[in-house]
Amino acid sequence: MKVLGIETSCDETGIAVYDSELGLQAHALFSQVDIHAEYGGVVPELASRDHVRRILPLIDSVLASAGVAKSDIEAIAYTRGPGLIGALMVGAAVAQALAFVWKVPTIGVHHMEGHLLAPMLEAVPPAFPFVALLVSGGHTQLVAVNGMGDYELLGESVDDAAGEAFDKAAKMLGLGYPGGPVIAKLAAQGNAARYRFPRPMTDRPGLDFSFSGLKTYTLNTTIEAKENDTFDQQTQADIAFAFQEAVVETLAIKCRRALQQTNMNTLVIAGGVSANLALRKRLEAVVAKLGAQVFYARPEFCTDNGAMIAYAGCQRLLAGQSDSLGIKPKPRWPMTELSKV
Ligand code: ATP
Ligand code: MG
Ligand code: FE
Repeated sequence: MKVLGIETSCDETGIAVYDSELGLQAHALFSQVDIHAEYGGVVPELASRDHVRRILPLIDSVLASAGVAKSDIEAIAYTRGPGLIGALMVGAAVAQALAFVWKVPTIGVHHMEGHLLAPMLEAVPPAFPFVALLVSGGHTQLVAVNGMGDYELLGESVDDAAGEAFDKAAKMLGLGYPGGPVIAKLAAQGNAARYRFPRPMTDRPGLDFSFSGLKTYTLNTTIEAKENDTFDQQTQADIAFAFQEAVVETLAIKCRRALQQTNMNTLVIAGGVSANLALRKRLEAVVAKLGAQVFYARPEFCTDNGAMIAYAGCQRLLAGQSDSLGIKPKPRWPMTELSKV
């Protein structure tokens, strides 16, 4: 089955063609980072408008680079939620209009199920069951994954998501947006001995997270350095290191706990923060000690993309699921509400 995937939940227009026999045939992304950078975060109305501008030309160019005709597309998968309502509506409207004209079925995909399954697009995919750490701009969750659609929430952030914390810490340090990649780059020059930030909620049992305190810690350390007139590039790097180290160590401690608690030996990390090399390295060490394995997607499929939506939609379509035209986007949509496949 040949599926066109459409992702428009936030500030990236992602398009892909995935074929259940041939695999991923083509994909492309238009990132709106430049548009939102001057505001230090995503402006919803600007995001919706830019999806409108980009989506049809991007679909044309992906079909062309896949060497696939419109008439070859057998189904359309689009992100139904969660995400920004206006942005989601653009993808849903285009998917449903094209499906109506092309006379093919549609499926509304859960954005986080897309992230969760993105590592399945790699040469050596993980096998069910596994523990998934979803770490993105809007989510930090540990999920027991027994099969597709069979999700049990083990723990989640009680405040900011990990990616959101990276973005806010970067803003406090006067760095660009999105913050994750900038902090990661700067942290590589950081002096590990200079600062130590706390590892929130690791001193008590449970699998929940909290990252808002690290944000305050970053702000206070930055203010103090500025008052002492020591806020130079090295200090920025030292703070970036301490912040990243605290996030990575906290995530690693909870992943170890989740693997032990569930007795599973496979860990999957997904979402934008799973592109972080320090996190990957730390988790490799954690699973090695437990005799387990860790899987993640290539960096471009950690953040938002159309390929993960085409893949997740394809699996549900192959299982006989589809959605009627006219169903509405779901800006809020718990992943545990999904049906099993
Ligand atoms: P959600 O998927 O929860 O709706 P989102 O789609 O905005 O949120 P993603 O696109 O999955 O999130 O990821 C973006 C986030 O990942 C941003 O917060 C960004 O700072 C973070 N990120 C990207 N690369 C890295 C990195 N190398 N290290 C740390 N964080 C990163
Ligand atoms: Mg994004
Ligand atoms: Fe995302």
